[in-house]
Amino acid sequence: MECILCRIIDNQIASRKIYEDEDNIAILDINPASPGHTLVVPKKHADSIFAMDSLDLRRTIEVVKLIAEKIKKELRTDNINIILNNGRLAGQIIDHVHFHVVPRFPNDRINFTIPRYQMSDEQFWEVQSKLIINTEMPPKPEPKKEESERGKLE
Ligand SMILES: [Zn+2]
Repeated sequence: MECILCRIIDNQIASRKIYEDEDNIAILDINPASPGHTLVVPKKHADSIFAMDSLDLRRTIEVVKLIAEKIKKELRTDNINIILNNGRLAGQIIDHVHFHVVPRFPNDRINFTIPRYQMSDEQFWEVQSKLIINTEMPPKPEPKKEESERGKLE
């Protein structure tokens, strides 16, 4: 058994466990981003969220909420990041699904900076048309006139 989380679940490797049920465990992260940083791990090995059964995932997210509520009460913060890294580019290191539950405190020096871009109505429409699942697609927007052109018309 190569997977480190499977070995932890199997008690072959020691962990700081705070919760266990039939389907999931929650353990303190060995290199925490903050005190209370917890990993919620489904017992059934799945590389990624795509390999997870929906019902199992639902049970796991319920444990995530339970841990978040426990952190809120005992560590006295309702500022909590809940993170699932899925795939290498998204920062996934261990190929066994796990949610990070990270309590946040004033001046904790954690910095999740996400760069933001400006997108045109047309660019939004392109991506929306690909991702839309069960709602109506709006009409394609007219391409905006260049600033200089608009200046000439006025
Ligand atoms: Zn595993």
